Amino acid sequence: MSIKELQDFNNHKFQKDLIDWYEENKRDLPWRRTSDPYKIWVSEIMLQQTKVDTVIPYFNRFIAQFPTPQALAQADEQTVLKEWEGLGYYSRAKNLHHAVREVVSSYDGRVPDVPEQIGALKGVGPYTKGAILSIAFNKPEPAVDGNVMRVFSRILQIEEDIALQKVKKQFEVYIRHIIPADNPSSFNQAVMELGALVCLPRTPQCMLCPVQKHCQAFSTGMEKELPIKSKAKKQKVVPYVVLLIKNANNDYAVEKRDDKGLLANMWQFPMVPINEIGMEHIENWMYGEYGLEIELVEKKSSLRHVFSHLIWQLDVFEATLINQRGVERLQFKSKEEMDRLPFSVSHLNVKKYIT
Ligand code: SF4
Repeated sequence: MSIKELQDFNNHKFQKDLIDWYEENKRDLPWRRTSDPYKIWVSEIMLQQTKVDTVIPYFNRFIAQFPTPQALAQADEQTVLKEWEGLGYYSRAKNLHHAVREVVSSYDGRVPDVPEQIGALKGVGPYTKGAILSIAFNKPEPAVDGNVMRVFSRILQIEEDIALQKVKKQFEVYIRHIIPADNPSSFNQAVMELGALVCLPRTPQCMLCPVQKHCQAFSTGMEKELPIKSKAKKQKVVPYVVLLIKNANNDYAVEKRDDKGLLANMWQFPMVPINEIGMEHIENWMYGEYGLEIELVEKKSSLRHVFSHLIWQLDVFEATLINQRGVERLQFKSKEEMDRLPFSVSHLNVKKYIT
């Protein structure tokens, strides 16, 4: 798409039709009742890879607990993770916490409105930077994610693979030419809302669409063929046996994950990599690895947990503690103590099987 075509497209009618529709139809969401950049930032981080309905109660609780950057900066990481528990992608919470501490120490607690400064904060990528700058500070910055690329690949009939980074960059260039200087906040939110409510992935609701007459894919009948997106690699399935090991006090063995990598610093029940160990060696392996002598009792359930790059196949077994030696990585916690610790979604599901 040439600059000339984009300039032709950048007509007030398109922007007005889109923004008018948004003003009339936008959902009443908690982060839309504020222009506080900190709260908008929190909402944008929570909304990454997560549905709006799931985010709403988390957002309300998080903001009630940490109403200002100072309040979040002062909290310890386990408290922040506990508030994030169940929302997944916990590195988001850790990066947000880290970045907010930087805002407090370097910018006197005020979220900066300079693209280079905000873009340098941990966990603030090009999309989040554009979303905060446009929504909170009304700056004409593009905020391009998968939804926005879907909408514009249809409106502008872009037939390139949106999985490619260079194509994403191209969308940012296109949107810079289209975004209105006088109301970038409503414009970006209107595009996101159109993607969420009307220009749906598989079933675009073109008959209800406020920008149908501007949409090139609709005029050529291509709306369901766009966007073009090459498939991500299939996730690898990794099986584990997860053990609910109970001691004589009815406490259960749990451990905190390493502070790096997947689900860093979250709590979980012990996981046996069963492909490497084999069912018959679980008890030996637990003794060697954790210093616990256990006896398997019964299988309680099979669960699957899907990450973006792998799938955990979890077979949950109850076990009894027979003996334990010296210092171990595992700690025995009561139900009440476990409720105060942050567990990942998969292990919250395992936790339902404790009796
Ligand atoms: Fe999407 Fe259809 Fe509207 Fe085009 S007309 S923007 S394809 S919903």
